[in-house]
Amino acid sequence: MSFHTGPDRLFVEVSQPSDSIEVWQPYDHLHSSEASLSPPHTRVACRIFFKHSRQFIDCLPDGSTNFLGSAPASRQQRSCSFDLCSFLKELIPSHVTLWENLSSLGIDGEAVHGLIQHIYLQGREVLASKRDSNMGQRVIPLHVEISKVQLVWVHYDRYLAHRAMMESMEEFERRNYGMVPASESSLKRMLKRVRVVGDEESDGGNKESKKKRRSESENCSICLEEVEVGSYGTSMPCSHVFHGDCIVKWLKQSHYCPVCRYEMPTN
Ligand SMILES: [Zn+2]
Ligand SMILES: [Zn+2]
Repeated sequence: MSFHTGPDRLFVEVSQPSDSIEVWQPYDHLHSSEASLSPPHTRVACRIFFKHSRQFIDCLPDGSTNFLGSAPASRQQRSCSFDLCSFLKELIPSHVTLWENLSSLGIDGEAVHGLIQHIYLQGREVLASKRDSNMGQRVIPLHVEISKVQLVWVHYDRYLAHRAMMESMEEFERRNYGMVPASESSLKRMLKRVRVVGDEESDGGNKESKKKRRSESENCSICLEEVEVGSYGTSMPCSHVFHGDCIVKWLKQSHYCPVCRYEMPTN
C-alpha cells in the first residue's frame, strides 16, 4: 500500500511476525467466555521500522525525468503499545501514541493521519487472519514497516559535482588519519545559526556579496536539498552553510568541511 504525499512516497506494510508466540510469552489464557467476546480489546505491541531513502532525479528540458542515483538509506525503529479497537473516536490514547511515534520519525502531519488509519485497518485484518493462534494472547506483536522514498530534484552537473566531492573527501581522509570527528565543544562554539536571505530581501547595500551568498547557500552540499529562503541554516567558520542536522551529523564523523576541508578542532 502506498501513500503519495507531495514529492515523497510512503509505502506501508503491516504484518504479524511469525515468531510471535515464542517472543511474546507468557501468553495468558483468558477465560473462554471472555475470549469469545467480539471484537476484543486487542492490545498490540507495535514495532515500527522506518526506512528513509532519497533518490536524485534530474528534470530534462523536454520535461522527462532522469534517475541519477540514490543516497544510502537511513533506518530508524520505534516501539509502542496500544489498543487496536476503535480508531474512529478522536484523540483516543492509542491514536496519540501512534501519532507521536510517527511524527518523531519525521513523517509530516498530513501523511501521519492516513498512516494511522491504515495501520488500524490493516492491523485488524492481519490479526483477524491469525485469530486462532492469537486466541488467548493479551498482547499481540505487530510489525509496521514504513518506507519513505523522497525524490530530490537536482541538476545532473550538480549531482556529479556532489559525488566527486564526496569521493575525494573519502579519499582525502583515507590518506590522512581516517575519519576523525570534530570535538563536541567545537560544534557548540563554532557553528552559527544563520537565516538564509533571498534576493528580494537584499537591501541594495552590497548586492554582489549577498547574491553570492544566496547562490552558495541555496543547496546544502551534504544532502543536495534546498536550504529554503527564510529558513535557518548552519554556518561553519569557513562560512559554508548547510542544514543544521546535516552538518552536525557530518561533523560527528569527519572534522573537515565537506566543501573546502576547513579543519574543525578534534578531541
Ligand atoms: Zn542538508
Ligand atoms: Zn567550508
